[in-house]
Amino acid sequence: MKYDLQAAIKAQGRTRRASIELRPIKSTQAQADELARILVRGPALWQAAEPRIVAAYARTLGEMGAITDSPADIERELGSIADEVLRLLFELTPLLQDWSLRQERYVRGRWQANVLSAAGVDLTTVIGPADMRDPLAIWLERNLSLVRSVSDDTRARIGDIVFRGLNARTPARDVAKEISTATGIGRRRALRLASDQSSKLTASLADERRRQAGVTSWKWRHSGKLHPREEHIRRDGKLYSDDKPPPDMPGQLPYCGCAQQPVLTLD
Ligand SMILES: [Zn+2]
Repeated sequence: MKYDLQAAIKAQGRTRRASIELRPIKSTQAQADELARILVRGPALWQAAEPRIVAAYARTLGEMGAITDSPADIERELGSIADEVLRLLFELTPLLQDWSLRQERYVRGRWQANVLSAAGVDLTTVIGPADMRDPLAIWLERNLSLVRSVSDDTRARIGDIVFRGLNARTPARDVAKEISTATGIGRRRALRLASDQSSKLTASLADERRRQAGVTSWKWRHSGKLHPREEHIRRDGKLYSDDKPPPDMPGQLPYCGCAQQPVLTLD
């Protein structure tokens, strides 16, 4: 605990309420969209490289029978695209950092505004961005590794398509369609990840802000998203504490958009 919010409110003596509920903090669609624009840049490299891969495939297919060695040409092409994605990470790192710092400012601003409006306590000089260095660093590493993993999956998927195609002597135009489907899968995965990673960082920053204030109770707030987990709907509105947490925290499981609503206990 960095400061005792409940003690500060009691000391003011302005409320007789036994408890105060703060508003849950959730990320916005605009924030997720902005993150998506960064995360789709890896899949975009694969999509832009489709003609090169298909050309290498067509060359190899044309030479088959004449040569007996493995299709090293295509492998080299796939390897060079994967390397481009790795080089892209150097460009994405500062963009992801900027995005996460803006998200930190947003969550901190919401936390301060919620505490001020619900309890009349001004936290402007009490909390700052430096408190959140660890969650931000963890989030950045996670996202860089996700960009790599989406690229690796795309490479593996295209590798399968190409080698199956060569074995079956599939025409290049048919293989081109399959490759395009594979890069599309990568792109859609990056878009889903952007939405998930936007909620995840917001949930972990909101959780840190609550704990830092010495607030140990919170209510589960269901996301209202499509395809919710039945279990999370059942938890909606239930009171939890850090001593007796549920098996998973709001926003922790993949694509969970649930949030916690801090409950300040004043008796
Ligand atoms: Zn959920």
